Amino acid sequence: MGFFKKRSVDELGEKKKDMPEGLWTKCPSCGESLFEDALTKNLRVCTHCGYHFTISSGERLTNLLDEGSFVEMDAKLDSVNALGFKGYLDKVKAYQQKTGLGEAVVTGRGTIEGLPVLVAIMDFRFLGASMGSVVGEKITRAIEAATAEKKPVIVFSASGGARMHEGILSLMQMAKTSGALARHAEARLPYISVLTHPTTGGVTASFATLGDLILAEPKCMIGFAGPRVVKETTHADLPPGFQTAEFMLQHGLVDMIVERRDMRATLAKVLRYMAKA
Ligand SMILES: [Zn+2]
Repeated sequence: MGFFKKRSVDELGEKKKDMPEGLWTKCPSCGESLFEDALTKNLRVCTHCGYHFTISSGERLTNLLDEGSFVEMDAKLDSVNALGFKGYLDKVKAYQQKTGLGEAVVTGRGTIEGLPVLVAIMDFRFLGASMGSVVGEKITRAIEAATAEKKPVIVFSASGGARMHEGILSLMQMAKTSGALARHAEARLPYISVLTHPTTGGVTASFATLGDLILAEPKCMIGFAGPRVVKETTHADLPPGFQTAEFMLQHGLVDMIVERRDMRATLAKVLRYMAKA
C-alpha cells in the first residue's frame, strides 16, 4: 500500500532548509506569518490583525519627526554602579553593544510638521527600558529644556518599571521627572504622554500618567504591578481586558487611543490646538 504512504515533512525537507531565516515574523496576536519587509513598511503593525509590535526608538523617531530634524541630547550620559550591584555595568555594556544605544531612552529636539518639540523615546530592548538614574536624568533634562525654550514636550513610554540594580536611586527618578513636569505645567506649556506596550511600574506611577493629554497605542499593556500580583494581593478576579489601553480609556486614565500610522498627524493636530489655547 505504498501509494498511501505519505512522505514525512522531514523527507520533503529541502524547502524548509532553504527558507532564509529572519524573513518572516509570526504575529503573537493572530498567529499569521508576516513578511518582514511588509511588516517594516507597515510601521511594524500586523497587516492581518493590526497588532502593534514593539519598535525601537530609532524607528519611532523616523516615523515621528520631520526628516533630518532630530538633534540628540545627552547621548553620552553613563550609568554608575552606586550600590555595587554585582555585574550591573557589564549588563549595561552588553545592552549598549546589542542595541547600539547608550541607555534605555533617547532624547532630543526635533520638529513634527514644522512644530518644534522636545522628545523622549524609551526603548524596551534596553534592559526592559527600566528607569535608572540616567533614564530619569535624560527625561528630566529634556523636560527642563522644553520649559526653558517654551516648547512642548512629548514622552513615549515603554518600561518594565524602576531599575532594580539602582534601588532607591531609581525610585528617586519618579520624583525628579514629576518635579520637572510640575514646573513645565506652571509655565503653562504642554506635555503629551504616549503610552506604548508595555508601560508599567514606576514609569506608570510618575511621568507617563502626568500628561496634559495621554495617548496610547492600541491594546498596549498599562499597569503598575502585573496582573498576577494584583490578583494575589486583592484576592479578586480581574475584569476582562484589565490593564489594556482600551480598559484605561473606558476608565478615564487614557484620553485617546491612536494607531501608529496616525500618531504623527494626531500629535501635530493636538500641538497646533494646544499652541492656540
Ligand atoms: Zn496579527
